[in-house]
Amino acid sequence: MKNNMLKKYALLGIIALLLVSVLAGCNSTSKNETVKENDQRPIMIQGPMPIEAEKFAQKLENVKEEKSGDFVFYIGTLDDYPVIVAKTGKGMENTAAATAVAIEKYNPVAIINQGTSGGHDPNLNVFDIVLGKRTTNLGALKTGDKGENEGIDPTTWKPMDLMASEGSAGEDPDAEKARFYEGDKELLTAANAVKDKYSKGKIVEGTIGSADVWNNEVDRIKWFHTKFGTSVEEMEGAAAAQIAKAYDVPFLGIRVLSNNKVNGGQYNPDTATACQEYVYEVVKQYISAKPSE
Ligand code: SAH
Repeated sequence: MKNNMLKKYALLGIIALLLVSVLAGCNSTSKNETVKENDQRPIMIQGPMPIEAEKFAQKLENVKEEKSGDFVFYIGTLDDYPVIVAKTGKGMENTAAATAVAIEKYNPVAIINQGTSGGHDPNLNVFDIVLGKRTTNLGALKTGDKGENEGIDPTTWKPMDLMASEGSAGEDPDAEKARFYEGDKELLTAANAVKDKYSKGKIVEGTIGSADVWNNEVDRIKWFHTKFGTSVEEMEGAAAAQIAKAYDVPFLGIRVLSNNKVNGGQYNPDTATACQEYVYEVVKQYISAKPSE
C-alpha cells in the first residue's frame, strides 16, 4: 500500500517535472522566435543615383540612415519587414563595393539592383521594364591580336569570362565566353506576380548588360544585342550580381528603359520613379510570399 503511494507520488513528480520542462521548452522557443523575428535578414534594394534610390527610401518606415564611404544605406521597414535601400553611386566599382560592404554589414536575404537603362531591343520603349533573367558584364572583352599600325577592330572582340578560372583569362580559351548571372527564381516569381500593377509600359524578362560605358553607336548596340542577347544596358547590374553570387545571396536586376537609341526613345528621368514604384510592389509581394525563417 505504502509502496503504491510512493510510486504514485514519484510518478506525479516525474509528470510535474516533464510539464515544467516542456513549458520551459515552449518558453525558450518563443523567446528564440522573437529573437529570430528581430533578426530577420533584410531585403536590399540598390539604386545608383539619388533619383533612383531616394523615392524608394521615402516609402520605408522607421528609417535610420547609415553611411559607409560614399554609400548611403536607408535602413527601415516595409510591412513590418526589414528593408534597406542602398544609394550606391553610379558604375561598376561603386556598386561592387557597396554590395560587398552591405552583405558584410547587413547580411541581406536578397538583393534587387534597380534603376534606369538604355534599350538594346527595338521592341522595348521608354518606361518598359526588364526583369533580369540574366545579367552580364559588357566590359569584359578580349581584343583581337594585332601588331602596330594594324588598327583596332571592335566587332572581332570576344567576350571574356574573368570567373572562368583563377588563371590568366588572356591565355585561357575556356574564358572566351560571356558569363551570365541568373536572376533568382523567387524574386522573378514575385516580380512577375505584380506585373499588372505597372501601367506605364510593359514588363518583360530579358538580359541586362553592364559596363562603365554609355553606348551611343547604334551598330555597336546591335552587336551587343546579337552577340550577348542584351535587352538593355546600364552601369551596375553585373557588378552587383557578381558579388551577390560570390556570397550566395539571391539577386535580381530590374531596369526601366529611360532611353532607347535603337528606336529613338528620348531620355526621360521620370522613369526612375516609375521603376521604384514597381519594385516597391515586387518587394511587398516577395515579403508576403516569403515563408518565415
Ligand atoms: N542621363 C544621365 C546619365 C546618368 S549616367 C545624366 O545625365 O545624369 C548613367 C547612369 O544611368 C548609370 O547609373 C546607368 O546605369 C544608367 N543608364 C541609363 N541609360 C543608360 C545607357 N543608355 N547606357 C548606360 N547607362 C545608362
